[in-house]
Amino acid sequence: MNRVRILVLNAALGPLDYRLAEGMSVVPGQVVIAPLGPRTVTGIVWDEGRLPGNEVPESKLRPLREIVPVPPLAGPLRRLIEWTADYYCAPLASVARMVLSSGGALGGPTTITEYRLSGGTPERMTPQRATAIEALEGEQGTIRDLSGIAGVSEGVLRGLVNQGVIEPISVAIDRPYPRADADYNQPDLSPDQALVAGRLVDAVKAREFAPFLIDGVTGSGKTETYFEPVAEAIRMGRQVLVLLPEIALTENFLTRFEQRFGAAPVQWHSSLKSTERRRAWRAIAAGPAKSDAQVIVGARSALFLPYADLGLIVVDEAHEISFKQDDGVRYNARDVSVMRARFEDIPVVLASATPALESLHMANSGVYTKLELSSRFGGAQLPEVRLVDLTIEKPASGRWLAAPLIAQLEARLEAGEQSLLFLNRRGYAPLTLCRNCGHRFKCPNCSAWLVEHRLSARLACHHCGLETAPPEACPECGETDCLVACGPGVERIADEVAALFPEARVAVATSDTLGTPARAAEFLAQVQAGAIDVIVGTQLVTKGFHFPELTLVGVVDADLGLEGGDLRAAERTYSQIAQVAGRAGRGAKPGEVLIQTRHPEADVIAALANGDRDAFYAAETEARRDAGAPPFGRWAAIILSSEDEREAREAAARLGDTRPRAEDIYILGPAPAPLALLRGRYRYRFLVNARRSANLQGTLRGWLDAHDFAPGVRVGVDIDPYSFV
Ligand code: ADP
Ligand code: ZN
Repeated sequence: MNRVRILVLNAALGPLDYRLAEGMSVVPGQVVIAPLGPRTVTGIVWDEGRLPGNEVPESKLRPLREIVPVPPLAGPLRRLIEWTADYYCAPLASVARMVLSSGGALGGPTTITEYRLSGGTPERMTPQRATAIEALEGEQGTIRDLSGIAGVSEGVLRGLVNQGVIEPISVAIDRPYPRADADYNQPDLSPDQALVAGRLVDAVKAREFAPFLIDGVTGSGKTETYFEPVAEAIRMGRQVLVLLPEIALTENFLTRFEQRFGAAPVQWHSSLKSTERRRAWRAIAAGPAKSDAQVIVGARSALFLPYADLGLIVVDEAHEISFKQDDGVRYNARDVSVMRARFEDIPVVLASATPALESLHMANSGVYTKLELSSRFGGAQLPEVRLVDLTIEKPASGRWLAAPLIAQLEARLEAGEQSLLFLNRRGYAPLTLCRNCGHRFKCPNCSAWLVEHRLSARLACHHCGLETAPPEACPECGETDCLVACGPGVERIADEVAALFPEARVAVATSDTLGTPARAAEFLAQVQAGAIDVIVGTQLVTKGFHFPELTLVGVVDADLGLEGGDLRAAERTYSQIAQVAGRAGRGAKPGEVLIQTRHPEADVIAALANGDRDAFYAAETEARRDAGAPPFGRWAAIILSSEDEREAREAAARLGDTRPRAEDIYILGPAPAPLALLRGRYRYRFLVNARRSANLQGTLRGWLDAHDFAPGVRVGVDIDPYSFV
């Protein structure tokens, strides 16, 4: 047969048929270049009979241009692409694109030119040149990479190249990675840990699909424990994927990994340089024997890499909502990782101290094997939790820390111990208004207030990234010196601590201050060296960090996450606060947690105070059952958006008119989304609630496919949504 069906990487086109050129032969999964009009397009040879195609007669088919010299995508990965597209109602091409995410991986030269400092000095020094030279010490990369690192334009760097201050060097792209040694530094596991590790090692040896949930309290040593099955996979010469929620975490993780295995793992995340991305992609596809890509640590997108021989997947901090992608293909990496393990026929391990209700439900109903670690490693005690009722213990006006928390902070400072204050709000103040006329600073592109960031002297929108300098005068009434900051962000809490304890060394820890791996590493080193007394941080510090000298955690506002109509608000609040509380007292000294709240009676707050996780889960499970919410029913969201408010509203109304009437599917809406304006687009939303038995995806596809939307209207489908804005 000369005819082949190609999944072309163009979501608008769908699969297309081509014919093989003279002497060409292909197998499914092969990456090819095909002609398309006057251009070419990348595509993947698909299995016969699995994709609908066109009926163009064979004589009219155009021949494939060429085969890209990378290993064909394996069958399990092709099934995963199909499943993901089907489940999340996304175009196949969009999912396939995530697999071939590294365009440069598919060919091109085997060496590239990178640049680094030569040690020379420029004839004429400018401030920008000086900045660049200082920032590039020890760095190497393409001009674009270096421009990103140094924060100067590529033009400035090219100038330095011309003067010989920056020199080109030729680098082999596909150089191998250092080898991890499974037995490099084997820890002594506690009996509990050994039991769990043993089960997982057996599962890796068995080479079969097996989902596990490690349900282990904070500080129980989940990482040490799952390193054992990782070691086993390495011994077997297979690959391992460890998914982590955020880059900030990886620095800490990398150190521990190197201590255990003697070499760094392969990393995969959004801030990789393009050459590193290409190198990793090719090494992962070539397999552990050829290129030493044994263990890959990555953010959610690492799930779609073309592993040559995957033997185990670990999803650490599996409850984290950042595993859910919120644009493009809106997949949940936690759930897709279980599917990938199923297609690959390998074990998958979800690890968490506060598992998602869905995961716990799967474990309790026997679908996942639950492995428990119920005590902290090395005899460390779980911290004591106390509530501070803000309706009784009122902070001073314009202040947010109540007397009991201040007293504990003081005690820690005197004892030379560290404290962490948690508030999930970046910046200085969430709202700025004019004292004179009441004008509030709003984002012109979004239904959101501008957040003042005092460290960077900016008003910023946390939704679209807009930033402006705070004006001298109110744009509404023209009055000067009249702007007031309302409410606290972490920067303001840090100021409050500094005012209370001028001698304390305070650090703000957010994505603004720890945004790059290098800065995160520096922060960790400083805390570990005892150079910081009080950390004021957002959810970034709730996970993964292990600071033995940290003995006090203060939750500034436990009620913050409970406001608004988010269906998962209680669960999120519970896990966030339990995780941040878990940072206290992980070493020899016992820890204490103070939770400031205006609602000490709320179920979730009471459960936190009593350390009664089971009670919280039980109550939340019942609430979900009553509401037909996951895991008992299913949710989906449909968002229609347009730059034109009327166009969006009318499209939503028309779609609403044809809503399917199904017994087991309820469709609410359309209604303006809570974020009615986002990045300049007006948004209308449907919320769909379905019974488990319903054919949710099929119904939604049928409904949406029957509609022609105006070109200005974008339709987003979100299956199992985590965002309700
Ligand atoms: P978790 O992820 O469960 O919160 P960690 O994996 O961060 O816990 O472990 C907590 C601390 O205990 C870490 O510093 C870790 O290195 C240490 N630890 C855990 N298990 C062991 C072990 N078997 N041997 C030595 N140190 C361990
Ligand atoms: Zn905005």
